Amino acid sequence: MSLPQAAPDARLDRIEVVVGDITDLPDDLGVDTVVNAANEPLAGGAGVDGAIHRAAGHDELLGYNRTHHPEGCKTGLVKVSPAFGLEAKGIKHILHTVGPVWSGQRDTGVPGAPGDDTAKLGYTLEDTLLASCYTNVLKAAEQLESEAVAIPAVSTGVYGFPKPRAAKIALGHVLGHFQQRPAPAFPKRVVFVCFSDADAEVYRQAIDTRDAWMFTQRRG
Ligand code: ADP
Repeated sequence: MSLPQAAPDARLDRIEVVVGDITDLPDDLGVDTVVNAANEPLAGGAGVDGAIHRAAGHDELLGYNRTHHPEGCKTGLVKVSPAFGLEAKGIKHILHTVGPVWSGQRDTGVPGAPGDDTAKLGYTLEDTLLASCYTNVLKAAEQLESEAVAIPAVSTGVYGFPKPRAAKIALGHVLGHFQQRPAPAFPKRVVFVCFSDADAEVYRQAIDTRDAWMFTQRRG
């Protein structure tokens, strides 16, 4: 079955999907800001968080966050830190955001089965919280006058958020932001960093089919 093809969209010129380690991106991507999939205490952890703490320098990053963000970071919010060891790679800022843990819980309070991905997009509490991560990341990147911000697939690892659903939320928010703030507004570009080809394909599918699912959501 062929997928519905979307019309050309200038906003997509500001979006790249790459496969790689967010702490070791090629210089020619021009990334100056990276997003960390952090946890609420900002203490470092597994996955992206572990990689960023290792590359930036765990002690320095932890020390900074304990001093400047002693309250940690609530789910859906963003805290900014310097990039420390990542500065050698041209990174100036780390945006620590805490994605929701996927439970399948509906906004109505009616629990779905764990991992239930049948609710309409935007209708779960986790959708709302993940959307808040992207809104706040984009706002911070704008304020920091970021050239290019690298964003991993927040919540889709240990936190178990369904990947296609998360990619649509990510893409929808970035497109919405670019709609409101046309080039050359900051951030000038967003780089979605995926850990595997399969994960990148999820983003490409979301991009290619966006007219279908965004249209469906509007008419919902
Ligand atoms: P969360 O706890 O928010 O789910 P994870 O770090 O466990 O965050 O995973 C988020 C996503 O990032 C997953 O899709 C995972 O495969 C991917 N990932 C893990 N490590 C890296 C890395 N070093 N660079 C880019 N993506 C990564």
